[in-house]
Amino acid sequence: MIHNNSGFLDSSFLLITILLLLFSFISENVSGDTLELNTYQKQRITGGWQYHWGDLPKNSKTGQWIDHKQEWTEIESPNEMQKPEGENIVWLKINLPNGNLRDPYLFINSVDLTLQVFQNNQEIYHFGEIDEQGNSQFIGWPWHMIRLPDNYAQHTLYFRIFSDYPYIGLSGEVVIGNHFQLLDDVYKRGITGLFVVLIVLLVGIISTTMGTIKKDRIIAISTGLLSFDLALMIFSENELNQVVLFEPLLWRYIAAFSYFLIPSFLSIILLAWLKEKAPKIIYWVLGISLSFFCIVAGLSSFTAFNFINAYPYFDVLFIILLLALMARCYKQLQKLELVGSVLMFGILTLFVSLMLDMLSAHNLISWLGHTSQWGLIFFVLASLVIYLVRDWQQQAALQAFTHHLELKVSERTAELQKSHHQLEQMAREDYLTKLLNRRSFSELALVELANAIRYKHPISLILFDLDHFKNINDQYGHSSGDLVLKAVASLVKQTCRKGELICRYGGEEFVILLHETDSKYAKQLAQRLCTTIKEIEIITNNHTINITASFGLICLTDMDVYTGTVDQLMEQLLAKADKIMYEVKSSGRDAVKINELKAGKLSSD
Ligand code: GH3
Ligand code: MG
Ligand code: MG
Repeated sequence: MIHNNSGFLDSSFLLITILLLLFSFISENVSGDTLELNTYQKQRITGGWQYHWGDLPKNSKTGQWIDHKQEWTEIESPNEMQKPEGENIVWLKINLPNGNLRDPYLFINSVDLTLQVFQNNQEIYHFGEIDEQGNSQFIGWPWHMIRLPDNYAQHTLYFRIFSDYPYIGLSGEVVIGNHFQLLDDVYKRGITGLFVVLIVLLVGIISTTMGTIKKDRIIAISTGLLSFDLALMIFSENELNQVVLFEPLLWRYIAAFSYFLIPSFLSIILLAWLKEKAPKIIYWVLGISLSFFCIVAGLSSFTAFNFINAYPYFDVLFIILLLALMARCYKQLQKLELVGSVLMFGILTLFVSLMLDMLSAHNLISWLGHTSQWGLIFFVLASLVIYLVRDWQQQAALQAFTHHLELKVSERTAELQKSHHQLEQMAREDYLTKLLNRRSFSELALVELANAIRYKHPISLILFDLDHFKNINDQYGHSSGDLVLKAVASLVKQTCRKGELICRYGGEEFVILLHETDSKYAKQLAQRLCTTIKEIEIITNNHTINITASFGLICLTDMDVYTGTVDQLMEQLLAKADKIMYEVKSSGRDAVKINELKAGKLSSD
């Protein structure tokens, strides 16, 4: 039997590669995650910011913004300020530092939500539109690259920002640098992120492929779907997506809705693992998360509700659902032993990472990056690894079972062959003496006779009958009679040559067909048998039994003149042997009578 573990080994190899790549990525990512300010030409703008709540007035004649009459408040950094009631617009201003960049740009990570940038009352950049009434629409969270004038040093930049979100301002970092340097940073950060997408996609591809070719497809396929969802979510958060397609709102939609779907995939995976033991809560989680998804999709399509505002609700819901899942599935997962522990650990990691995300999103701890992504990546990897290990275990068990079955089958085949052989022998043999029985003797003898006729060989037939055998039965019992029959049979077998047909023809009557034998040997044999039978002593129940037999021998020569059929020849040989054997019986028994015949004589009878 061939043990085929190559599938598992291939997948394990692939997984180990993924894990190694993941670790190398993490170590690289830790060092390359923040904007590098390693050259004197790049400057992070910190400090020196001023802000003003509400819109600035406009000169009705010139249409220019008037700022000098307003009160400006100093602020260290313009990151996501808490808005006062009723304010949707904030103005920020900053004096640009000295510098001699050749291709100066201002890089802003992200803005809540709509942005206009002015220098000398000239709009130099805008993202989104703010209408006359001071209203605006959310159109996504891209990063911004704002071309600065060549003589930017010591000039003042004004930012007019709109938000109906709980926070307003510039999130992340604000950096001045040469265009190519800033872009280089974006690519560096983006590419490491793409690497993660690739890994998650790979997990998805392996899982779905396994799902389509193996058993337990729901586990593998749902793990695959969660991985694809995750890959989509991570890519929609990646800075490079806007290089591929500048549709910030679309990417935001994808990021939000792929995130909202995560608990649904998670519950499907748990349902698939726990099968009929799955607690009802998992169905509830599935139902609730799908409903949330549909309600948010419906509200943001048909009402003024912005799906971005669903994030805080979803964070809370997700944490509650995870808590409920952990509390209710704990026991069932425990029963799955290692599988359950890894799954439980996966959910726990996800829970902790979500909590960290939420805490950092609400500025309760410093921003750690999207830790929930790491939790999810761990979860899908764990699910895939368990699936592969279990699949391998099942395969090994199946192979062991197949091997066991094969052994059983070969044992049974050997037994069957043996009993088939025994049956065949039983059909050919006499049960008591193991000599040929009458039927198989007839078949074989006909072949011998046909050969004798064809090749003109002489042939002889001995027929003998034990004398007064009935007396032995009567005197010593039937089983003693049987012993005598067996003893005689084995004696005949020992005396005859190999290949001669010896048959128990009737009760105590035996026939021997001697092929290619002249009368000299046949006579000797018959005589020897007669003597040795007389000599044997069968001891039974403290008695010694002696026996004799009467022999009739027909020796047939001149076969070339035989004209009858094989059946006729057989019949006539037997009849003639029987006849002379009876002549021996009537003339006193224990003797051999021989009849040498020419075949021509026989056929003319
Ligand atoms: P004869 O010398 O004239 O042949 O006398 P006999 O007693 O040998 O012949 P008879 O035909 O009167 O009896 C044959 C006996 O052989 C009758 C039968 O019970 C016995 N016999 C036949 N088959 C078996 C057998 O398989 N086992 C035993 N123990 N006896 C058998
Ligand atoms: Mg007899
Ligand atoms: Mg008899």
